[in-house]
Amino acid sequence: MSERFDCIVVGAGLSGITCAGYLGKAGKKVLVVDRLAEVGGSTVPAKVMGCTVSMIYPLVAKSKYGDANGWAKAAQDFGADVRMLSSSAPRIYLKGAERPFMTIPRCLSPEGAANWMVELLRAARPDLLGEDIERDMVPIMREIYEAPLQTLTVDWGEMSVKDWIIRRTDHKGIHFVFNMMMTGCIFTCDADYTWNHGSVGKGLVLLRMWLAGDGLMSVPLPDPQRGICMPLAEAIQKKYGCEFRLGQEVKKVIIEGGKAKGVAIIGKSGEVHEVIADDVVVSTRWGSYSSLFDPMPTFLADIVKQAAAPAHHLGSAFVIYVLDDSIKLDGAYFMAFDKQSGSHILGGTAQSTEQPWNAPDGRQFIWTFRIHTAEDFEKIGMDRLGTEMKTDMEALFPGFSNALVWESPVQTRLAPSHYFYNSQPKVRHSYPAVKHLYFAGDCTHPMHSMLTDGAASTGAITADEILGACQTHRD
Ligand SMILES: Cc1cc2nc3c(=O)[nH]c(=O)nc-3n(C[C@H](O)[C@H](O)[C@H](O)COP(=O)(O)OP(=O)(O)OC[C@H]3O[C@@H](n4cnc5c(N)ncnc54)[C@H](O)[C@@H]3O)c2cc1C
Repeated sequence: MSERFDCIVVGAGLSGITCAGYLGKAGKKVLVVDRLAEVGGSTVPAKVMGCTVSMIYPLVAKSKYGDANGWAKAAQDFGADVRMLSSSAPRIYLKGAERPFMTIPRCLSPEGAANWMVELLRAARPDLLGEDIERDMVPIMREIYEAPLQTLTVDWGEMSVKDWIIRRTDHKGIHFVFNMMMTGCIFTCDADYTWNHGSVGKGLVLLRMWLAGDGLMSVPLPDPQRGICMPLAEAIQKKYGCEFRLGQEVKKVIIEGGKAKGVAIIGKSGEVHEVIADDVVVSTRWGSYSSLFDPMPTFLADIVKQAAAPAHHLGSAFVIYVLDDSIKLDGAYFMAFDKQSGSHILGGTAQSTEQPWNAPDGRQFIWTFRIHTAEDFEKIGMDRLGTEMKTDMEALFPGFSNALVWESPVQTRLAPSHYFYNSQPKVRHSYPAVKHLYFAGDCTHPMHSMLTDGAASTGAITADEILGACQTHRD
């Protein structure tokens, strides 16, 4: 006889765990299956030279501007042991400017934020200051500070930076400084590209978090997988009896007569068995959809087809440096702005020896990336990219070259940009064509910049939808 659960969640990433937790909390018998041997999905860190390399700034959107329902809220709701360590403030490195370093401060009012943006412009491009800059800047910052999260993510989600700002001011200095910050915030790292294609809404979510302090820029202890995903998973196992089967791949979602009935799982020794459930939640990413359905429902096939046709490409380079402890890193996230080109921005995290869970004794590491439009990327070439990245490091962290113990090869790739994914029609949480089948995660709507907080919020939304549907059936 097949096993039976109320709900099966495919994928133990942040979205799957969050979804499972809310379902379990509501009394459902839940099974979570993941092909990886551990929970966390995309947050599972890599090991390089004995250092743990993981993403480092999970962003939390607080409820003041609309609740993103992210992992921080889930941690509270599940009573999970999640702890955060506030990191140094993000810094901007204005390559070639007279005042090259600026810390991004917390500005409590739109007026304060406007003043700081002017200060930034003064440091980066004083020639563009012009007249009456505050007159236009203050109302713009006020609008950014006061807009509901819904406006940022949905109404302005597909609007380019250019279209948004030129409707508000024709001040060239504001155009410049605003686009420069957006370029860093939305990780395109290319000013021209951001101006013409960047989603202003996605950038503003992060800009507001940086400037307004309307979100945490903190490091979970010791990293996002062990600091967030594992405590959440542990809490929902212990408190709500959610069951996890790890290292087991879901071969397919069973659909019969227009209803999801359960899943077929490949067990550890390769045998396939079916598990039946009232509801199935697919919390994987785009890439897994095609293998999970046979045949794929038409609505999903249409979306996957569109997602497979790349529109914009960006080139990115990624390097990890391992240093001895002869210099002190400060843990800050940084961006570098090249005054000459206006488009070179690099970001990364410097991990000091104070975080021993990430770096062994006497070692520290920096992970860093650089992104350009595909065209610029090809023009610059790998060798120059590698050299420039090291020169920037020396400027950011004097003594870097002498402290350098090891560096990874420059890994490069051309890939569709975040905008490409953002501009795709996202998967909805459910469709009438296949009942009892639900979706959560990075590919679903709404996502706040493909980030941990947004991913978790989609899991919460899906759980709400399932519980609402159960209520309707009962009514
Ligand atoms: C390199 C990188 C850096 C990032 N940096 C940041 C950052 O600094 N800050 C931030 O907030 N966000 C960052 N993100 C984004 C963040 O990681 C994601 O938004 C979030 O973790 C996605 O969670 P998810 O649950 O939707 O998907 P995932 O975590 O990808 O989970 C999907 C799970 O489904 C499982 N799965 C797939 N197919 C099957 C199958 N057939 N059977 C069983 N299991 C299956 C996978 O193994 C995986 O565990 C980064 C992402 C990446 C890749």
